[in-house]
Amino acid sequence: MAFELPKLDYSYNALEPYIDEQTVVIHHTKHHQAYVDKLNAAVKGTKYENMKIEEILKDLNSIPKEIKTAVVNNGGQHFNHSFFWKSLAPGQKPSGKVLDAINQKWGSFDKFREEFSNSAATLFGSGWTWLVSNNGQLEIMQTPNAGTPISEGKTPLLVIDVWEHAYYLKVQNRRPEYIQNWWNVVNWKEVERRFGK
Ligand code: MN
Repeated sequence: MAFELPKLDYSYNALEPYIDEQTVVIHHTKHHQAYVDKLNAAVKGTKYENMKIEEILKDLNSIPKEIKTAVVNNGGQHFNHSFFWKSLAPGQKPSGKVLDAINQKWGSFDKFREEFSNSAATLFGSGWTWLVSNNGQLEIMQTPNAGTPISEGKTPLLVIDVWEHAYYLKVQNRRPEYIQNWWNVVNWKEVERRFGK
């Protein structure tokens, strides 16, 4: 079974005006699709073809060196993007146990939001900022390029893609503006579901 581009749970224009339709279309059908295609090319004829991407990324050291770079990069990007799409939805507000945990850890939601935004804005080059659970403790972490928390044994709850392709069409170099817009389309129900697991 080859890896497949996941369908989105919403239409391409559902995140307007915060994330524009053209950006979502190109990001999903071109960028994410290319990572899937390159991952499939790398694992063709190996046992990795039949594994879940999470299983592969949890044990990077076991990947044969001939395909390791391609699998780490394209597999990481496939997982991260699939997770990113699920982290988005229009019209939601943080609530429930995850909001309680955020308030407890950071003192207030606004303080968490400020720290997370700052982490995303200051990440040098391409990468991701995550809210993760590390043995039950909430943490904000950055991963460069295709890095992913599951390779470090951490459980991701929420992610923002800060590769330029995620925002350049709409806001050009103004990454902080993209981050501020992004807060309006966080899928808090999904964050809450992940936190409850
Ligand atoms: Mn991306």
